[in-house]
Amino acid sequence: GSIIGIIGGGQLGRMLGMAAAQLGYRAHIYAPEESGPAADTCAAWTQGAYEDADRLGAFADAVDVLTYEFENVDSGAMETLSQHGLVRPGVEALRIAQDRLKEKRFVTDLGVTTAPFAAVDSLADLEAVLTRIGTPSILKTNRFGYDGKGQVRLHAADEAVAAWEAVKGQPCILEGFVTFDAEFSVILVRGTEGEVRFWDSPHNVHVNGILSTSTLPAGPLIRAQVEPARHLARKVAEALDYVGVLTLEFFATAHGPVFNEMAPRVHNSGHWTIEGAVTSQFENHIRAICGLPLGDTKLAAEGVNMRNLIGEDAHQWQEILADPANHLHLYGKHGARAGRKMGHVTRLEL
Ligand code: ATP
Ligand code: MG
Ligand code: MG
Repeated sequence: GSIIGIIGGGQLGRMLGMAAAQLGYRAHIYAPEESGPAADTCAAWTQGAYEDADRLGAFADAVDVLTYEFENVDSGAMETLSQHGLVRPGVEALRIAQDRLKEKRFVTDLGVTTAPFAAVDSLADLEAVLTRIGTPSILKTNRFGYDGKGQVRLHAADEAVAAWEAVKGQPCILEGFVTFDAEFSVILVRGTEGEVRFWDSPHNVHVNGILSTSTLPAGPLIRAQVEPARHLARKVAEALDYVGVLTLEFFATAHGPVFNEMAPRVHNSGHWTIEGAVTSQFENHIRAICGLPLGDTKLAAEGVNMRNLIGEDAHQWQEILADPANHLHLYGKHGARAGRKMGHVTRLEL
């Protein structure tokens, strides 16, 4: 079996490792931490900084194909990696998706509708763009944000100073607040020959900026917007000559789908595919990056619900297991910090 190198050692790496093992591959992790959720399911773990080009290069030389489960890898280091081996999805996808401003500009150029946005590099910028975008709006750091971290909501223009302080002077974008009916994601996989398959789009509910549930089938409001959203997602994948799983988050609005953000990887809103689809996002990502034929993405039940276990939610594991219909996933994390994703539960409606 060949060796798959995965950059990042969290729960996405853990689930990719399981899929890799199922297909007879061995997964090696590269991450700055000493250990992590992926350590349990991977054959080897290399501890190293994301900026350490020498260590990354040596890691790349020892594997057959490289992928990442985390998009905040230094793109310069990834460039080095790509000189040592095959990086799928490519470095360009990572470079764009790790920076909200680059990402919004990239999709806007492809004709994708987003919230109104503007670059903010100073308090003066923020005050100036507020006169155009107005409030309510959201100031988001361009980089390193996830689960709603690095975001400040503005309700009035006089909150500019406090908002700018809260983001600690990091480069940001200001986004107009989108009035939406619901949120959904488009999850696709693209193979080395350019074949694209889409999973059914889940209805995603966020609580405090963190994904809480993904439910299928989504209601008619979302279903009516999936086709145009897929059309956009395919354009993005093709423009990047993408290989692997790609996820785009959308708002379903009265004026059609509005792009929120994308992730160049398997995604939390696709965890339901482990039991709820013929082939999971993890298996298809491994298949795609290894140049294998892609598996069927069809829904495998009448309905599916995935619920995240955040912080102390994970303490309910006994009650969850008491219901035989529940599929419990725990990520092996220690310390149920508030807001931390500890696991998830999937239920099928058969
Ligand atoms: P993720 O963990 O999904 O990467 P993130 O930190 O990148 O999260 P976003 O996806 O930008 O955060 O925002 C989190 C949630 O906040 C969105 O799913 C949505 O519910 C809400 N939100 C973000 N931007 C807007 C907006 N412009 N208008 C309305 N709601 C928004
Ligand atoms: Mg995000
Ligand atoms: Mg998001």
